[in-house]
Amino acid sequence: MHDEPLLFEIGSPGRRAVSLPSDDLPPEVELPALEAELARPGLEGLPELSELEVVRHFTRLSHWNFSIASNFYPLGSCTMKYNPIVNEWAARLAGHQTIHPLWPDVLVQGALALMFELEQMLAEISGMDAVTLTPAAGAQGEFVGIKMVRAYHEQNGNPRKTVLIPASAHGTNPASSVLCGYRCVEVPVGRDGCMHIADVAARLDEDVAAVMVTNPSTLGLFERDIRVIADAVHGKGGLVYIDGANMNALCGVSRPGDIGADVLHINLHKTFSTPHGGGGPGAGPVCVKKHLAPFLPVPRVLQAETGYRLSEDAPLSIGRVRTFHGNFGMLVRAYTYMLGLGGDGITRMTERAVLNASYLRKKLEPLLTLAQTAPCMHECVFTDQGLADTGVKTMDVAKRLLDFGFHAPTIYFPLVVQGAMMIEPTESESRETLDAFAGAMERIVAEARKDPELLRTAPHTTRARRLDETRAARKPVLRWRPVAAGAEASTAEGTAPTAGTGSAADAAPVAATPHSTTTPVEA
Ligand SMILES: *Cc1c(COP(=O)(O)O)cnc(C)c1O
Repeated sequence: MHDEPLLFEIGSPGRRAVSLPSDDLPPEVELPALEAELARPGLEGLPELSELEVVRHFTRLSHWNFSIASNFYPLGSCTMKYNPIVNEWAARLAGHQTIHPLWPDVLVQGALALMFELEQMLAEISGMDAVTLTPAAGAQGEFVGIKMVRAYHEQNGNPRKTVLIPASAHGTNPASSVLCGYRCVEVPVGRDGCMHIADVAARLDEDVAAVMVTNPSTLGLFERDIRVIADAVHGKGGLVYIDGANMNALCGVSRPGDIGADVLHINLHKTFSTPHGGGGPGAGPVCVKKHLAPFLPVPRVLQAETGYRLSEDAPLSIGRVRTFHGNFGMLVRAYTYMLGLGGDGITRMTERAVLNASYLRKKLEPLLTLAQTAPCMHECVFTDQGLADTGVKTMDVAKRLLDFGFHAPTIYFPLVVQGAMMIEPTESESRETLDAFAGAMERIVAEARKDPELLRTAPHTTRARRLDETRAARKPVLRWRPVAAGAEASTAEGTAPTAGTGSAADAAPVAATPHSTTTPVEA
């Protein structure tokens, strides 16, 4: 594999990507010197390159990315599914791409109509009454949702004190609740991985503002008691928040609004097909029942006789939660995706997601230990328990999968499962791909018995080898090599690469490894 030099190491003084007539240029100015702690010793000036050198440099680097466009990416809970290219076409239409959020409503009727209709589609799919498209991620959707829960209770005279959250929850759930001023009370999950009414009832009182349930749960299970739990919480005046990040297991089959949800967020970048990973952008619309609608953030898209308009007129609203109206390009992608599939297609998406996960679960069951034996929904969770006698751990399996060209599943999450491997194939994958993945797992499990060292030192074929994950995260060596031949790279931390072997080829930037592969939390 090639070892890509830094931009500082290629090019040549005076080389340019563009040439401008010199008499058009403003007079040269002296740039202020960088502050000492920002300056890199040994580095003078900026790289000087032709356009072609820059294009080739970044194109080569882009080939090192692991993406859904190149390989199978079974990262549980993240839903790394295929994003039809037609979505990109729609998002890039000049009319979508060049509008500005400060234009008057009369000039952006098409965009407002799209937002209005998308809200209606999401309301129908979720069984809710009103929707905001503003939140920029699932986590922000949760924050907005719980903020509305608080506003609702305040309006009734008492914000209440706690939010009940099952032990299997996504980490963002307690974080959002705490940010809104609530104390979290953990509800244990049963041996079957589900939350049970008795455990909820034991913690339920008039201080409970809401229960926050991910359904299907992070174990890939449908919460069977959800209805009775919702009734019990409502009976005490509390509200039900459903984390619908994984709606691709429910669409067209079960509606959160019909099973007791008062508020729910949906991740467009998971279920409704917007490219994600690597940190964004996202879109986490929040759907509410009527009684929470007055608290929705502004602006709201309203339909009037004269056309669509944005309104800030909502006296009980929790206010603005970000600039403008959300990540509009993602709204276009989700809208295009839904129109492309239609109602029946969206139902088939769900059926395929569950079928694929169930197929893979059956294929892997003889090889690894299932965390839960109940039928799975869109993902299945295994553990490394059955490999205990070989000393091989989940991390080793995850690393070895990279050698077979597969992205690792989500590992060590959910936290309630020791050594978890959370596998979500998504509806986009073919049977051949699923079989190939199961085949790789079969080989890896055989290797664990024959040659465990091979796994403990994996990966062997990737650009960066096994990193010290903690150091790589806390003290990344984003190594650059000065132009002067023979000079050593220097950083505040010294020159040690985070990889174990220390050869120049192994001293790749930390970012060269798809970092979510083995980060012991869910991406
Ligand atoms: C992904 C996910 C979230 C958070 O969504 P972000 O867009 O990453 O903020 C919350 N809950 C669950 C269950 C998720 O899978």
